Amino acid sequence: MKAAQSSDGILVDRYGRVARDLRVSLTDKCNLRCTYCMPAEGLPWLAGPELLTDDEIVRLVRVAVQRLGVTEVRFTGGEPLIRPGLVGIVAAVAALDPRPRISLTTNGIGLDRLAPALRAAGLDRVNVSLDTLDAARFTELTRRPRLDAVLAGMAGAAAAGLTPVKINSVLMRGVNDDEAPALLRFALAHGYELRFIEQMPLDAQHGWDRAAMVTADEILASLRREFDLRTDPAERGSAPAETWLVDGGPARVGVIASVTRPFCGDCDRTRLTADGQVRACLFATEESDLRGALRAGADDEDLADRWRRAMWGKRAGHGIDDPTFLQPARPMSAIGG
Ligand code: SF4
Repeated sequence: MKAAQSSDGILVDRYGRVARDLRVSLTDKCNLRCTYCMPAEGLPWLAGPELLTDDEIVRLVRVAVQRLGVTEVRFTGGEPLIRPGLVGIVAAVAALDPRPRISLTTNGIGLDRLAPALRAAGLDRVNVSLDTLDAARFTELTRRPRLDAVLAGMAGAAAAGLTPVKINSVLMRGVNDDEAPALLRFALAHGYELRFIEQMPLDAQHGWDRAAMVTADEILASLRREFDLRTDPAERGSAPAETWLVDGGPARVGVIASVTRPFCGDCDRTRLTADGQVRACLFATEESDLRGALRAGADDEDLADRWRRAMWGKRAGHGIDDPTFLQPARPMSAIGG
């Protein structure tokens, strides 16, 4: 059955939103064990044959870029730096015509070593997760003593030209919510761009507690005790982060307030999991399988059409505030940012 939605074949949903930003999870594995993401023992990882091969990933990204109007590709995980073929995948995607903008979301461990090769392969910029500057607290939060490696990763990315280096920080009440000003001071001192992300109900343990979530209002109030924040005049468009100029700018700080200030109305994201499933939304409870069709010999237009159909049914928003809200079975660690 041919998807009849858009004449030029782009990824449009029934609310008229067009997906141009593809998030590709390269693995569900990670070398950290963040308490708000997964249990200490890890998770039952996807088995090898379930995972898309490097060539399959590149083919699906090519279909998205050449047939579906995707212009941005972000590689995520789990932790994408542990995918052995990462540099090759980035190089193949950078060679596509038209060339998409390519970014990566990472915990930064090993980035200092890989940054020059990733840059040479065509990676444009990186987002690095950092929730604390305190080594003991880092070890408590991630169950690994790797703060130095993360900081070295950021410095390596900046040195390699993967700029602006953006920092993603999740604050949790009574854990690290006292560090907002310190994290901003750190980012300003290094020329990094900091964005705070409201904690979302996507943890593997299904233990998310709205009362424990630090809201955008609270984050801004904490920052305003030390910094002058003015609304950023730059166009936001479909960007998840709302941004403010710090002390008159040009430095900015952002807040991704998915829960208290949802931005689903302008969403331009589509997602591909490491095992070849399309997710129309981060919080989707349904997925569409491309891996099966791909391995059964489907041609590119057939794969493109399945993707269009998957996006057409996208819901209006995440529905976290709906009494009927159901947390997705797939955890964040197997979806990616
Ligand atoms: S929650 Fe879903 S619809 Fe909303 S912005 Fe995120 S991906 Fe888009």
